[in-house]
Amino acid sequence: MHSDGKRTVDEIVAAARQEGLHFIATSDHNTSSTGVTWHGNVPTDLLVINAEEVTTRHGHWLAVGLPQGEWVDWRYGPANQGAFEGHARRVHSLGGLTIAAHPLTPAPGSFWEFGLDRVDALEVWNGPWTLDDAANIAAWHVMLCLGKRVAAVGDGDAHSHGDAVGRPHNVVYASGLSTPAVLDALRLGRSYAVESAAVTLDFTARAGGAVAGPGEELPLSFFDAVDVTLNVTGAPDSIATLYTEWGIMAATCIDGSGRGQLRWRGWARPPCSPGPRCAGPSPPPPRWTNWWPSPTRCGSTPHNCPRTTSSSARSSTPSAAATGRGAACARCRAPPSAPLRSRGSRAPWPACRTAPWWCWASRPTTVCG
Ligand SMILES: [Zn+2]
Repeated sequence: MHSDGKRTVDEIVAAARQEGLHFIATSDHNTSSTGVTWHGNVPTDLLVINAEEVTTRHGHWLAVGLPQGEWVDWRYGPANQGAFEGHARRVHSLGGLTIAAHPLTPAPGSFWEFGLDRVDALEVWNGPWTLDDAANIAAWHVMLCLGKRVAAVGDGDAHSHGDAVGRPHNVVYASGLSTPAVLDALRLGRSYAVESAAVTLDFTARAGGAVAGPGEELPLSFFDAVDVTLNVTGAPDSIATLYTEWGIMAATCIDGSGRGQLRWRGWARPPCSPGPRCAGPSPPPPRWTNWWPSPTRCGSTPHNCPRTTSSSARSSTPSAAATGRGAACARCRAPPSAPLRSRGSRAPWPACRTAPWWCWASRPTTVCG
C-alpha cells in the first residue's frame, strides 16, 4: 500500500476474509506508515498486526508488531558492526518479532547475510512453493540439528492482485486473538504453516503421560519411548514425511480424500548438553556457510552433536562450500560429486551420492499441501 503493494485496504480485508484468516500482518518495504491506513478500516473480527519489511541490500527482514509511529532503518550491511543487532534489539524491546524473510532467494540483495542470533523466526515458505522454499526447509532442518532453535513461518508476500493473500499462512496455538498472543505463539514455534485454510495438521508427541505439540518440549530420559502422531486433512494426493536429526523416520501417502495419519515411535537419545560425550567447546555462532551439510561433520561422535566437531573441521566447511568443491564423506567414504547450485554461485552445497543421514541434496523433500 505504501511501497509496491497494489491492493487497497478494502481489497486486502476482502482477500483475508475469503481465505478464512483471523489475523494478518502487513509489511511495506522500509516503512511502517501502513498502520495509519488501517486505522478505522479494520473489521472487528480481523486482527491486523503492524509490520515493516526492512529491505536492506543484504537481506530482508520483517519487524512484526511495531507500535504505530515506530520505524526501522534499512541502511546498513553485515560489515556495519552491530547495526542489525541494534535494530533487532529495539524491535524486541517494543514487543515485536524479527523474521528473516525469504533468506535463500537468489535475487540480488535478498540473500540473508545477518546470521540468526537476533532472529526469532525463519521464513521457510514464501508464496507459491518453489525450490527456494525446499532449500529453506533443508537449511532450517540442518540448523535445528546443529542446536540452533528458531521458529519457522510461511508468508504470502502478496504484492499484486495476482498474488494470493494468505497462501501460505500460519496457524498459531495462541492464548487469544491479540497481537502479543499471536507473536508469542510464533516466537515459540507454537504454529505451523500451510498452503491454505483447507489444510489442517494435528501433531503430537507423547511420552508416558506427557504430551507436546509444535514448539513444545517433552521431559525425557535416555531411551524413553516417544510416540509421534500426525493427523492431516485437506491435503489430497500428498505425502506426509517425518524428519528427525537422523533423516526421514516415517512417511505415509495421503489419498484423494485428503485425510491421513502418520504414526512413529522413537526413543530419546542422550542429552547433548551437558554430557561427558559433549564436553568440547561450544561451537561458534552458525553462519550461512556452516548451515549446509558438511562432510567434515560425518566423522563426529555422535553424529548429531555439534560440540564434538573440532574447530579445524568446522572452519574447513565454508571454504569447501564456497568453492563448490565438496569433500569426500568421512563416514561413508563417498567421493564428492558436482555441487548442486540451486541459487547461482552464492550458496552451493556439497552433495553426497550415498545419501548419509544429513545429505538433503540427494533426498526428496515433501511437504503436505
Ligand atoms: Zn522481501
